[in-house]
Amino acid sequence: MAAPRGIVFDMEGVLHVGYEPLPGARETIAALDAAGLPHVILTNTTSKTRADIAVRLDAMGMPYPAERIVTAGSATVAFLQRRHRGRRVLLLAESGAFAEVAACGGLNLVDDGREAEVVCLGGPDESITYAHLQEAFRALMDGAAFVAMQRNRWWPTPAGPGLDAGVFVKGLEYASGRRATVIGKPAAGAYRAALAVLGVKAGDAMMVGDDPVADLATAHRIGMRTCLVRSGKGSTFASPWPTADLDLPGVGELPSALGFSSC
Ligand SMILES: [Mg+2]
Repeated sequence: MAAPRGIVFDMEGVLHVGYEPLPGARETIAALDAAGLPHVILTNTTSKTRADIAVRLDAMGMPYPAERIVTAGSATVAFLQRRHRGRRVLLLAESGAFAEVAACGGLNLVDDGREAEVVCLGGPDESITYAHLQEAFRALMDGAAFVAMQRNRWWPTPAGPGLDAGVFVKGLEYASGRRATVIGKPAAGAYRAALAVLGVKAGDAMMVGDDPVADLATAHRIGMRTCLVRSGKGSTFASPWPTADLDLPGVGELPSALGFSSC
C-alpha cells in the first residue's frame, strides 16, 4: 500500500480516552509532523469548541492547532449558515455546542419552539429535559427542518460506555416521523469538511478510527483508505475487520505501518 498523503484522525478512543493520551499518540503525531505528512482531527464531539479541544490536547502533551480540528459542532454551524441562513434555530445541546455556535456566529437562535424554523440537536447533556424534547418535537410536528450534529450510539469514557446523542435523534425521528439531516460522522459531509481542511483528496487520504462503522465505513465508501485501531471501542468489533486497510493495536503502531520511523 502506497503511503497516504494525509491522515484524518478520529479523536476519542484513538488519540486519547477521557483526559488520558493513548500509548504512542504523542509520538505518532510527532512522527507525522517530522515526515511532513499533514493530518487533521475529525471528531463528533459537540461538548467542546475547537479552541477548547486544542487546549485539552495541549494539556495532554499533544499540541494541536484549533484550525486543524473539525467537530460535528463546527461542521453543523457551517451547514446551517449555508443551507438555513437567517432561519430561526431551536438548538438543543450542551453548553460547548452553544459556545461553538457563538464562536462561529451568524445563527439566529430562539428559545421558543413555536418560533423555530429549524430544530438542531447537539450532543447529549444532563441539562436536556423532557420539556426541551417536547419543545423540539412540537416544532418538528409544525414543519421545522430537523438537523442533528451527530447520532452516535455511545462513546468510551473512563467509567464505561456513555450514552450518546443517537437516543435523542432516533427518539425524535420515531415520534415525529421526520428524518434528521445528520452532519457529523458517518455522514459524508463531515469527511469532505475534514478533507477540505487537510487539503488532500479522498483517494490520497487515510481515516484512522476506533469504530469501523461510525468512523471508517463512510471513509471507505468515498475512497479513503482506512485504519482501524483496537484502542477505545476498537476491541469490541470483529477481528479481522474486512474493509480495514490497516488493523492496528493502537495509533502508536501507525508510523511504522506507514513506513515512517517513530520519534
Ligand atoms: Mg472514536
